[in-house]
Amino acid sequence: MKNNLKNFFEDIILEIKNKLFSSKYVLKGKCKRCGRCCRNILFSTKEGYIKDENIFKDMQKKYRYYKNFRISGKIENKQDFQNGALTFECKFISKNNKCLIYPIRPIFCRDYPNINPELIYNGVKMLDECGFYFDVNKKFEEYLN
Ligand code: SF4
Ligand code: SF4
Repeated sequence: MKNNLKNFFEDIILEIKNKLFSSKYVLKGKCKRCGRCCRNILFSTKEGYIKDENIFKDMQKKYRYYKNFRISGKIENKQDFQNGALTFECKFISKNNKCLIYPIRPIFCRDYPNINPELIYNGVKMLDECGFYFDVNKKFEEYLN
């Protein structure tokens, strides 16, 4: 009950934040419930994306939260600025792509996919085959006019 109330207020804050600060981009499409975003998570430290399993193990020792994840793969594409980064899978995604803790899932899961113009400018895009995509809410020609 306490968690539900907390989530309710956090969702309202997220909604307001997204309305106020995402004026350049709009989110289009819808979730296909493929679960890919729960299995292809990247974590980073001040030094950049985590590429070393031992660094991740240290993080798990320091912060219990990281125990909710296991390594699911590695990005291997020299053209990709994320090349070498480890990908992580959440332990709460079921085989049929259901979140096992849906009512109390963390705030960043409820906020996903977040429209962050800074990340979009830096080349971050939606996962391949994701049902969502970003679009500009004002076309270039409209700015010219
Ligand atoms: S990757 Fe996209 S379509 Fe698939 S579950 Fe995540 S948000 Fe939905
Ligand atoms: S908590 Fe649920 S929504 Fe969040 S990453 Fe895990 S399975 Fe996905």
